[in-house]
Amino acid sequence: MLHLSSISDIRQQTELLRRQGKRIGFVPTMGALHEGHLTLVRAARHQNDITVCSVFVNPAQFNNPEDYRLYPRILEKDAQMLAQEGCDILFSPAAEEMYRQTPRLHFDFGELEQVMEGAHRPGHFNGVATVVSKLFHLVKPHQAFFGQKDLQQFAVIQQLVLDLSFDLELVCYPIIREEDGLAMSSRNRRLAPEQRAVAPRLYQALQLLREKLETLPVPAAKQEAEAFLQRFPQIKLEYLEVVHAQTLQPLQEVGQGAPVALCLAAFLGEVRLIDNLLL
Ligand code: AMP
Repeated sequence: MLHLSSISDIRQQTELLRRQGKRIGFVPTMGALHEGHLTLVRAARHQNDITVCSVFVNPAQFNNPEDYRLYPRILEKDAQMLAQEGCDILFSPAAEEMYRQTPRLHFDFGELEQVMEGAHRPGHFNGVATVVSKLFHLVKPHQAFFGQKDLQQFAVIQQLVLDLSFDLELVCYPIIREEDGLAMSSRNRRLAPEQRAVAPRLYQALQLLREKLETLPVPAAKQEAEAFLQRFPQIKLEYLEVVHAQTLQPLQEVGQGAPVALCLAAFLGEVRLIDNLLL
């Protein structure tokens, strides 16, 4: 596996590969890789000639400096896992390399970013769109792979690709979970044992919400799921929403044929986790 960290090197490589007529599959990540990431790498490999994975903890998308500082960084282990999966190129630039100058461009995704993650993490999607645009230019992929875990991020990136006419296909893969239902996340590494023990309650709350929505109106079903989570004092719920799965706008009722997503974010101590369930 080729391990590159400079912009000029990755540009040169992907230009060469494009000229050779190779299909490039790309998996952007922030590292501390787990089975969720590796599923995307396998899919990319399966559908392309060359697999590129980036590991970059993007400072521009963190609204909380402590979250950025404490984000798990285990590049050597990531590189080993990627090599084992048959990844061809790992791109892991330093922050100074990606941001030689502070970007002046600002993205505005309108109502797509006025809810959930966008509402609770000011500037987050601007940082995501900036780095993803840069990475797409550098890697020049035919396909880029993302997880449903970050549902709103995927919607934002779909909009980005449409608005800027990026010539690539976006692929979204389902959430990979631990055996007890907890959505895999690099941030799970930061959970203390007692927090880890209670963390599967988040997914249980989404499942309960799904069940309650079969018989109750949206507000009452949400109340039941919120009351369930309130039984666990380690969990501080930030939001629990019933939304349209594409526009991500809150739904007052379900069952009208619209695709529905149940989404939540919660803190366990300082660690913020997100999860979702598509109906
Ligand atoms: P991250 O490193 O957290 O920025 O994630 C990189 C990519 O992996 C994103 O497209 C995520 O949505 C995806 N991803 C993260 N966790 C999971 C998971 N548990 N299952 C599937 N995809 C995931």
